[in-house]
Amino acid sequence: MDFALTDEHRRIQETVRDFGEREVKPHAAAWDRDEAFPHGVVAQLAALGLLGLGLPRDVGGGGADALACALVIEGVARYDASLGLTVASHAGLASGHIDLFASEMLRRRYLPRLARGEWLGAWCLTEAGSGSDAGGLRTRAVRDADGWLLNGSKMFITQGTVGHVYVVLASTAPDLGHRGISAFVVEKGTPGLGTGRKIEKLGLRSSDTAEVVLDNVRLAPGQLIGEENRGYKQALRVLDGGRVGIAAWCHGIGRGALEESIAYVRERRRVPGPAVRAMESTLAEMAMRLEAGRVLLCRAAYLKDTGRPFRSAAAMAKLVCSEAAMWVTTRALQLQGGAGLVRDQPVERYLRDAKLGEIGEGTSEMQRRVIARALLTGALPSL
Ligand SMILES: Cc1cc2nc3c(=O)[nH]c(=O)nc-3n(C[C@H](O)[C@H](O)[C@H](O)COP(=O)(O)OP(=O)(O)OC[C@H]3O[C@@H](n4cnc5c(N)ncnc54)[C@H](O)[C@@H]3O)c2cc1C
Repeated sequence: MDFALTDEHRRIQETVRDFGEREVKPHAAAWDRDEAFPHGVVAQLAALGLLGLGLPRDVGGGGADALACALVIEGVARYDASLGLTVASHAGLASGHIDLFASEMLRRRYLPRLARGEWLGAWCLTEAGSGSDAGGLRTRAVRDADGWLLNGSKMFITQGTVGHVYVVLASTAPDLGHRGISAFVVEKGTPGLGTGRKIEKLGLRSSDTAEVVLDNVRLAPGQLIGEENRGYKQALRVLDGGRVGIAAWCHGIGRGALEESIAYVRERRRVPGPAVRAMESTLAEMAMRLEAGRVLLCRAAYLKDTGRPFRSAAAMAKLVCSEAAMWVTTRALQLQGGAGLVRDQPVERYLRDAKLGEIGEGTSEMQRRVIARALLTGALPSL
């Protein structure tokens, strides 16, 4: 069993760390305070090839494996979780869905620009009335002589207002429930595609989260992704990969909080005492919880990269990493006492940002259901 990263993985890690220290760390607090989507730094990430790293080379991507993509998300989220979420949803969800399931015509039209980061992707599954119960979505796509007509609205969409390419899940056969859902690509500027209100949030304040409205959006027949009525299955596959990314995202936030805590405790050790000893114990517990999650996330990436089933492994990784991130960020703030609560302190932001890990791309309750189903059907991979 080899736990070492390859030289290529290390190089990616160092590139992201160097970039994060220089271009992200000094600005993250201001982006959060201003709730401003950082277009400039997103363009810099694109120029480094980090937005299309996991896409195949034939469409301009980097052809990297799932572990490499996870390292990018983890490394960016360590400095700014909002920016990390942009990478995760653009690359893992929107681009990933098109790459896995779209026709060659759609792949050629969209993936090169998504890989270069010229266009940002948004992935639209959730609605105001359906989140965990994604099969209950109400956005409709009706086929007519010219193609498809879409009506409905989507909620909590990352890149909702700044996206250029929207992957939209809609019901094409309401009587069939989740078996009657299909996926479509909708381009920015298509008449009827609009954005509703931008959503203000506890954390991730510089990530762009918005309602997306589809009001008589007319699409050519070729904008359907893959086969009709296969959208739900496609979405589940996309989410499996996305959860490896979100596990890494959570680990990155936790790692950032741990590093802040180590620096804080080093300062406090100048005056030893019982409080410092308790803090050292907390540091050890933080590191242990984070590493446990990281092993699970590396394992999920390994299973994905070697073509093995990884649904339950990804669910476990996301669950453990998200709970570790909440535990570590909460303790990191507690460690600093009142100072930890002060706005513009990294630990205060880390704690607010970490909460999404237990909600987005399937809540913790839904991850437990995925794991339980695998256990009960004998499909849980084990070492
Ligand atoms: C910042 C942010 C960004 C997001 N980005 C995107 C995006 O880009 N694209 C997208 O499509 N969505 C996005 N989402 C939506 C996200 O995926 C959903 O919020 C999530 O899936 C939960 O759905 P919900 O909010 O409707 O909660 P609900 O499904 O209503 O859940 C509410 C509570 O009930 C529990 N619950 C529900 N059903 C069950 C059950 N069967 N068993 C046990 N417990 C249950 C849940 O675990 C949760 O605790 C984003 C959300 C946020 C906050």
